[in-house]
Amino acid sequence: MESATATEAATRPGSEDGAAVADADTIQVHRPVDGSTIRSVPIDPPERVAEVVARVRAAQPAWEAMGLEGRRRWLERLRDWMLDNEGRLADVMQEETGKVRAEAEIEAPFLCGTINYYTEHAAEFLTEETPAPHILPLKVKRLRVVYRPYPVVGVISPWNFPLILAFDDAIPALVAGCAVVIKPSEFTPLSTMEVVRAWKEQIGGPDVLDVVNGVGETGGALVDEVDFVQFTGSDRTGKIVMKRAADTLTPVSLELGGKDPLIVLRDADIDRAVNATATGALANTGQICMAIERVYVEEPIYDEFVDKLAERVRKLRQGADGRSYDADLGAMTTPAQAEIVSDHVEDARSKGARVLTGGRRKDGPGDWYEATVIADADHSMKVMTDETFGPVVPVMKVRDAEEAVRMANDSRYGLSASVFAGSSRQGEEIARRIEAGAVNVNDVLTTYFAMGVPMGGWKESGIGFRHASYGIKKFVRPESIVSPRIKQGKVDPLWFPYTSRRRKFLNRANRFINARGLRKRLGL
Ligand code: NAD
Repeated sequence: MESATATEAATRPGSEDGAAVADADTIQVHRPVDGSTIRSVPIDPPERVAEVVARVRAAQPAWEAMGLEGRRRWLERLRDWMLDNEGRLADVMQEETGKVRAEAEIEAPFLCGTINYYTEHAAEFLTEETPAPHILPLKVKRLRVVYRPYPVVGVISPWNFPLILAFDDAIPALVAGCAVVIKPSEFTPLSTMEVVRAWKEQIGGPDVLDVVNGVGETGGALVDEVDFVQFTGSDRTGKIVMKRAADTLTPVSLELGGKDPLIVLRDADIDRAVNATATGALANTGQICMAIERVYVEEPIYDEFVDKLAERVRKLRQGADGRSYDADLGAMTTPAQAEIVSDHVEDARSKGARVLTGGRRKDGPGDWYEATVIADADHSMKVMTDETFGPVVPVMKVRDAEEAVRMANDSRYGLSASVFAGSSRQGEEIARRIEAGAVNVNDVLTTYFAMGVPMGGWKESGIGFRHASYGIKKFVRPESIVSPRIKQGKVDPLWFPYTSRRRKFLNRANRFINARGLRKRLGL
């Protein structure tokens, strides 16, 4: 069923993805809860992107030279500003995303934690190394590895967590000494613009953080200008970005889509698994890259599991809750995503799956899709193979753990997964066989919040990782510096001129160094 606003959305002037562009010069930001316009934002053409990157590039050397302690002080001011402005930031984000209040309030506090984590651990992650020379002749040298930032990092971000998915990378890049330019999603630019405005106007931060707005053309121009691309979004766009970055051999880190499986084994605590599935699949109205998108349940507990899950999901409340915290699910942030969800559910229904609850778009203004549980799903259905990115939980019956693992791995994605088992040990055994960058045992979504472990996709879910040391080391390049420890002669043995006498000596020395066992070393 298509709501009036979905029809209207389909006729809105669109970007290549079907929405948001008002005309060639502006994007229009909507309220997903009712489809009305919040405001329009000027699009930054490629020339302007080049100007912005050149400006922050000019400021970056001073930022790098300031050292970790200096940069830490600025980022702590950003943290304090976020803490003091949490409510206002949540207002802006809630308006442009359609999130419920409890979820809009997660982002700023999470990023305060990111600032603390990287400012407190950067010295350990980026400390200079002084490796020991691996052969005797090099003992006269001092070897050092220093980590130098990519001067300008371009962060291209999606709409589902507008602040976290821009700043969870921008923060470690800034801590590392890079300048950062963010291109937020055209659907949700306002939260990022607000933080960047505060950095410039209220915090008075150095000119190393900026934002450019627009759709694909602006994102592409940013890829052309920067020294490192941090992209979060769909695998389709990620591949376009990687191809474009190849023209300038610019390194990329890609955090892409997923189709995360959840396995429930027969010994698991069913009630915990049900509650976790509901939250893991439907939080943020299912618009989470690491959302549970397919569930495999062992035969003996299958009926009980699906009945309890449907009952649990029926009780969830959906709506625009303002500041009242009385809704669990919000709106779909983009009309195009609501279309995809509808298409997947109808495809499953037509192939014999049972829709136990939900399963339709809501009438009236805005982009709303009901919380949906589908039983008897299988891999012939899009809802089990393609990223749905909406409030839908399809469940499939499996014979045993072997089949569950095989099905979980039967995907081109590999972002994360969950396993519910009778014990942590059994869950971990299964986890080690799952092809994904992160696995939760008897839990969902937690790997993202555990900053000490890396988060990133295998297979077509991405290249590169955020969090832990990986989340900052990707923004620096090792620079090796080799210098003398002792006074040196005028000529080294390997330099010109080559002579037979010196060559013979070096050959004997080479043998002595690289052979093992005295007789071999002496050539006997
Ligand atoms: P998207 O790929 O449509 O857009 C992402 C960003 O890329 C936007 O800012 C967009 O304007 C920009 N863009 C579009 N075309 C471009 C081009 N040609 N060159 C450069 N930039 C371009 O993704 P989306 O719809 O905003 O976000 C949803 C997707 O993001 C889902 O697939 C989801 O799984 C994924 N995602 C992944 C993670 C993760 O960490 N792995 C997190 C959140 C979302």
